[in-house]
Amino acid sequence: MRIHIIQTGTVAIKQVQRSRRPTGNPLLNILLDPHWTEPLPIFAFVIEHPEGLIVVDTGETARVAEPGYFPGWHPYYRYGVREWVQPEEEIGPQMRAMGLDPNDVRWVLLTHLHTDHAGGLAHFPKAEHLVSRREYANAAGTLGLVRGYPSYRWPRWFNPTLTDMQPQPVAPFPDSYPVTQAGDVRFVPTPGHTAGHLSVLVTTSEVNYFLAGDASYTQALMLAGQVDGVAPDRLVARQTLERVRAFCQAAPTVYLPAHDPDTPDRLANHQVVLAQPDPADAMQEVTYA
Ligand SMILES: [Zn+2]
Repeated sequence: MRIHIIQTGTVAIKQVQRSRRPTGNPLLNILLDPHWTEPLPIFAFVIEHPEGLIVVDTGETARVAEPGYFPGWHPYYRYGVREWVQPEEEIGPQMRAMGLDPNDVRWVLLTHLHTDHAGGLAHFPKAEHLVSRREYANAAGTLGLVRGYPSYRWPRWFNPTLTDMQPQPVAPFPDSYPVTQAGDVRFVPTPGHTAGHLSVLVTTSEVNYFLAGDASYTQALMLAGQVDGVAPDRLVARQTLERVRAFCQAAPTVYLPAHDPDTPDRLANHQVVLAQPDPADAMQEVTYA
């Protein structure tokens, strides 16, 4: 099994979206915050697995530069986010450059359906797409659009398999959803960033790889238990961060969020989360808001 990482451009968000302000309306806090983050990478992953090629999130599309790609009336797209993606940075061309054919992908696993995770769907018309039932329900249609999911940009053929967790606990996660027959690639529930958010757990004999999507924007924020500024339910999000931290500290785990600049190094060096994190390290990233 091999895990490849692909960066599909960058995204900047408001600092209060990265680190939630404890008071006020979350969306208003974001719209009114004058402070942008630096451009953050948008990562997707390709797993060469004996049972087939697996893609985890599809990154963003270069079409975001087209006027009108996002709904101009939506305050978040107008005032809350900026993205930069070149055509050759999309996941399809990058896979081809690595000698991997997107048409050979068996499964596309979606941690959630935000634009920077679902923007590359068009490259995988032949794969089976898996997303949580709750995430899909929240993202589809006009209400989904109001919630910030540009669902009208999904390919017309997009008809994902909706997953429900199975009674297979992976402590401290109460249940999970096996993707591979071998059970070494599975979804675990990580509600928080979105109510239906999932993470992908890849298990090898030596180490776990925790493909976290946006369960937290960085490892430091996860270790600090810092909830992000868009999570619909702060308590649910906090419980998820506690579970993720407990999991990572109980067994050697490489933690790989979709927007953490350190994710590629951690993957390349199989750098696991330390059992006793340095509190200074963990706090460093949460003090800027
Ligand atoms: Zn997201």
